Amino acid sequence: MNKPLVVITGASSGIGAATAKHFNNAGFPLLLLARRIEQLEGMNLENTLCRQVDVTNPEALQAAITEAEAIYGATDAIINNAGCMLLGQLHDQAPSEWQQMFAVNVQGVLHGIGAVLPAMKQRKAGTIINISSIAGRKTFPNHAAYCGTKFAVHAMSENLREEVANDGVRVVTIAPGAVETELLSHTTCDEIKQGYSEWKEEMGGAIQADDVAAAILYAYQQPQNVCIREIVIAATRQE
Ligand code: NDP
Repeated sequence: MNKPLVVITGASSGIGAATAKHFNNAGFPLLLLARRIEQLEGMNLENTLCRQVDVTNPEALQAAITEAEAIYGATDAIINNAGCMLLGQLHDQAPSEWQQMFAVNVQGVLHGIGAVLPAMKQRKAGTIINISSIAGRKTFPNHAAYCGTKFAVHAMSENLREEVANDGVRVVTIAPGAVETELLSHTTCDEIKQGYSEWKEEMGGAIQADDVAAAILYAYQQPQNVCIREIVIAATRQE
């Protein structure tokens, strides 16, 4: 039997790209979304539609999903992974930085949910996987706005899970600790970047994007009546 469509946002690097490869190896047709379309297409995955979509644009997100569903059938899972981390102290951080984080990490997740949820409720099946962070469970220095976005992802996910449980739709929160990806590179303060890199070195290195991708696939591949509500995954030596 043909496997169902899986949508991954932020699939052009890091955890999203690794997740795309894991799901592709497992035989799922994919819709991959990000702004850097050349990175998506460069992965050369079979049975995969790549579209340049900014998750802050709900119309573009919806249009890409409609296009993919016309080819591969109904979306069975969306992995709301697109995110950005602009670390800083609130007293001197440009408002544009926290505005971007809330637009992508929080509103982007809501747009992803909104694009697939009505059909999933109707089908009485489907899985929404939201990529949060350990920074959605505890605070860290220089993380005030970023933690705000990830605490929001945890809260929205768990609330949604309760809301749609009776419709047979699963909601899964993935909360990674530090992962070796491009995420830190967008932070504009060099001193903070340096401190974060040293913190990772002290713990003997972060985990890899593939480690998180394997956990996401594991959660998704449980039977539909089994919902792994949350996976917290981090380097053994991360406190
Ligand atoms: P990367 O920076 O490697 O990946 C981020 C992805 O998000 C890219 O594919 C990027 O694509 C995409 N993205 C960013 N902004 C937008 C946007 N406006 N619209 C569409 N896509 C966007 O970092 P990670 O792989 O680490 O991050 C993935 C998720 O994991 C994030 O939600 C992050 O918060 C979370 N996370 C990461 C941790 C880590 O230590 N790395 C720890 C815990 C959670 P493009 O630029 O092409 O649009």
